[in-house]
Amino acid sequence: MKPILVYDTTLRDGTQGENITFTADEKLKIALRLDEMGIHHIEGGWPGSNPRDIRFFDLAKRERFTNARITAFGSTRKPGIEAADDANLQAILRTETPSAAIFGKSWPLHVETIMDNTLSENLAMIADSVAFLKSHGREVIYDAEHFFDGFKDDPGYALKTLAAALHAGADFIVLCDTNGGTLPHEVESIVQAVTRDLDRGGNDGNRLRLGIHSHNDCGMAAANAIAAVNCGAVMVHGTINGYGERCGNADLTTLIPVLSAKMNRPCIPEGKLGGLKSLSRYVSETANIVPLNTRPFVGRSAFAHKGGIHVSAIMKDPRAYEHMNPETVGNQRRVLMSDLAGKSNVEYKAREMGVDLQANGCDSKTIVAAIKQMEDEGYQFDVADGSFQIMLEKFTEQFKPLFDLESFRVTIEKDKDLPCSAHATIKISVGDTQEITAAEGLGPVSALDNALRKALGNFYPDLDSMKLVDFKVRVVDGRDGTEAKVRVFIESRDKDQIWSTIGVSEDIIEASWQALADSFQFKLAKEAGQAFDASHKATAQNLKLGWSMS
Ligand SMILES: [Zn+2]
Repeated sequence: MKPILVYDTTLRDGTQGENITFTADEKLKIALRLDEMGIHHIEGGWPGSNPRDIRFFDLAKRERFTNARITAFGSTRKPGIEAADDANLQAILRTETPSAAIFGKSWPLHVETIMDNTLSENLAMIADSVAFLKSHGREVIYDAEHFFDGFKDDPGYALKTLAAALHAGADFIVLCDTNGGTLPHEVESIVQAVTRDLDRGGNDGNRLRLGIHSHNDCGMAAANAIAAVNCGAVMVHGTINGYGERCGNADLTTLIPVLSAKMNRPCIPEGKLGGLKSLSRYVSETANIVPLNTRPFVGRSAFAHKGGIHVSAIMKDPRAYEHMNPETVGNQRRVLMSDLAGKSNVEYKAREMGVDLQANGCDSKTIVAAIKQMEDEGYQFDVADGSFQIMLEKFTEQFKPLFDLESFRVTIEKDKDLPCSAHATIKISVGDTQEITAAEGLGPVSALDNALRKALGNFYPDLDSMKLVDFKVRVVDGRDGTEAKVRVFIESRDKDQIWSTIGVSEDIIEASWQALADSFQFKLAKEAGQAFDASHKATAQNLKLGWSMS
């Protein structure tokens, strides 16, 4: 099958999304990751529009890109001037990128009403600008802005704009659904019409190569890109995680696996697809945007199973409830615990965590019943893997605490208008040794965390790498006012893992302590090589077993 060129515009169109900004250095780092993934074109920015993008292209000049062509973006020349005198086109040339993308108008509404220009001057602007960049040796990608809307309004004129670009030597003609309002069946018929028309019109020996640039306003960006590919487009535009203006662009973390794993259309070098989830994470981390759990292929929930029937089925054969092997895109199967869970969920989780459910004469039925009882009391284990593992170990009498609490005391002081101050004293024992420490904190939980950390630090020096990253409190049952039960979630991380723990009590400090203590027990067990190694070995084995059957 013919390969498809992947054109990434995370650094340009992506940054037009709400709350998305990258510094020039961050852009460079992302560009290097995209190159590593094997993306063909990386649109770095619009050098004619801002100094940050100019700086990015200066930085990019000094780097070597193995797979990608760095591409500078801009518009066609201004009306009534020579292309050579256009500041925006000159700015593109100064970036010294091998490739340039320029957008022009396809829709009379934009040409006449918005730009106050004439239809014929618009055609001349497109042709001149493409020819000018070609004469300077650039590969030219022509973005036909609002093409689908323009075509629906005035197909004859919309096609003329494409012919102008093609005859002037454009290497790629990219049809843009700028407003994102087009549907896949419309994309199909319009792409077919374009192909028929431009082939019939002759193209001065310039081979027509079509691209698609779609936006997600109808939730159809990826579907529209695939529809265009099915009708012969050879280039797809998109952004990592679908970031972009309004509802975003076509998401490359969807398009890449769909093209390569589902349609057998090679689009990135072989062996690279496994890095997709990590690329998605890298870009969301850099953008400081919480990753979307339900994002297809790369989201945390993309291969998560909750219902007991599903879990018992995937234990027999994962194909029963998975459309592909999660490892293909670098993701992982997850089995969630919840009140929907059955015996299979518990057995699967136990195997994954390396906990022997049969140990000490236990049986999983009793454990499932106990879990359901706890969930009824307010625990929620599908989001607290760390506590779940500790609880399984406790139920099966395999839990080896790495410290024991003797006592703690927390005091809070409030003086007039001054902020509250919190102070905690804690007494723990590790083996036969006892330790008492005290610490302050911004609140009672932070004081307790600091005191426990200080006490444990004398026994376990590696704790510095562990941080609490999230702390959430929910009221479990709102009817009892201040006596209601609360559920506390704590999310912790170190350099290679994130884990969540939970506590439930009528007392917020008690609930926080449970979650906090579990978090430290989990980390210490992991450091001691108990939980961590076992869980990873088990997961790898499950995955291999499951999918090697297919
Ligand atoms: Zn766009």
